[in-house]
Amino acid sequence: MLFELDDDAQALADLCRDFAEGEIAPIAAEAWNAERCPVEVLAKLGELGVLGLLVPEEWGGSDASTVAFVAAIEQIGRVDQSIAAAVQAHNTIGSLPLLRFGSDDQRDRWLRPLAEGRALGAFGLTEPDAGSDARGIRTKAEKVSDGWVINGSKTFISNAGTDMTMGVTLLARTGVDAAGKPSYGTFFVERGTPGFTIGAKMRGIGWKALDTRPLAFDDVFVGEDHLVGDPSMGLGQFLSTLEVGRIAVAALSMSLTSAVLDMARDYAKQRIQFGKPISEFQAVQFKLADMATELEASRLLTYSAAARRDAGKPFMKEAAMAKLHASRTAVRAVSEAVQIFGGVGYMLETPVARFYCDAKVLEIGEGTNEIQHSVIARLLGC
Ligand SMILES: Cc1cc2nc3c(=O)[nH]c(=O)nc-3n(C[C@H](O)[C@H](O)[C@H](O)COP(=O)(O)OP(=O)(O)OC[C@H]3O[C@@H](n4cnc5c(N)ncnc54)[C@H](O)[C@@H]3O)c2cc1C
Repeated sequence: MLFELDDDAQALADLCRDFAEGEIAPIAAEAWNAERCPVEVLAKLGELGVLGLLVPEEWGGSDASTVAFVAAIEQIGRVDQSIAAAVQAHNTIGSLPLLRFGSDDQRDRWLRPLAEGRALGAFGLTEPDAGSDARGIRTKAEKVSDGWVINGSKTFISNAGTDMTMGVTLLARTGVDAAGKPSYGTFFVERGTPGFTIGAKMRGIGWKALDTRPLAFDDVFVGEDHLVGDPSMGLGQFLSTLEVGRIAVAALSMSLTSAVLDMARDYAKQRIQFGKPISEFQAVQFKLADMATELEASRLLTYSAAARRDAGKPFMKEAAMAKLHASRTAVRAVSEAVQIFGGVGYMLETPVARFYCDAKVLEIGEGTNEIQHSVIARLLGC
């Protein structure tokens, strides 16, 4: 099957490539080293329509296909993984719950500014005691006469505390169902709501320019209009949003592999040892050939999952496979790329070293790879 981008997707990919090379590349190392989220760059991406890619024009978005979205992340992620991570999280988990489950009033108030790129959105699922086991969350929303009172905490929340952040869409327990099992609801909590505290930016081994923070909710009162959809359907809403997020992390992973393959190949062709370029040694050639082959498989899996979503077909298994394969490939490929660079690849001034640090989280975020295995096995009927 021949896979090619259509004109709209190609135009978006070109736009993102030009922006990434012209506006992101010059600040990427500085922002990463300073552990600074460059909101000025995100704001410009917003002006270009890149923060509302999966949202219809009716709600301020650019109405791109999922395939075009993957192409956009591929181009940004080749230049900077933290900024691409911020963009993908905003477009998927940060915006889609409001689009898919919100009322028209909620879409107009919160989704529109997110999609028009005037604000950033965050998605609060993970808690200190509940990561892979989403059902184990403890944050509670208690019904009171004119709204809800939320108590609890979240951790590792991306885009949570930038100057552009508008608030967080979070999952909370809302009670128990008829069978005595917990039920969950989705709430949007605006920044500045009394009792809602945004913690200090967390320090990771990579994605250093991404704004990731813990959040605390201490008797946070929100009106009934902050409940997004049915108060017993939140868990399903969150888990189905993560399916799209997995395609996005697969796209990030494939962009990393693509970037480090090019870096390693170019370096190997100009690095002379034993009187010839190291690219003439078979050991180096085989590493590059493996990287290119695994990258092609990542690319096909990722675009195929995206195309299935665009076609309205089930894509949970394909998204999990794409994320599993592409993230594993990225971690392996960047390790080999650093090996090809030798000592210089170990030094943080070299871009490949930054990508090495950025790679590991791809196997953790949006559901660890062990959880992707479980999802795939379950969908195989196990
Ligand atoms: C940089 C970064 C950004 C993030 N952004 C967000 C965000 O925006 N919003 C959000 O809600 N979360 C976010 N997360 C959280 C992320 O989704 C979780 O870290 C991830 O889901 C894993 O949860 P955990 O860290 O609690 O690990 P745990 O669930 O404690 O897992 C620890 C280990 O046990 C394994 N394990 C657990 N259960 C099983 C099982 N059933 N079978 C086999 N192995 C198992 C895991 O695979 C893992 O290896 C982010 C995390 C990071 C690092």
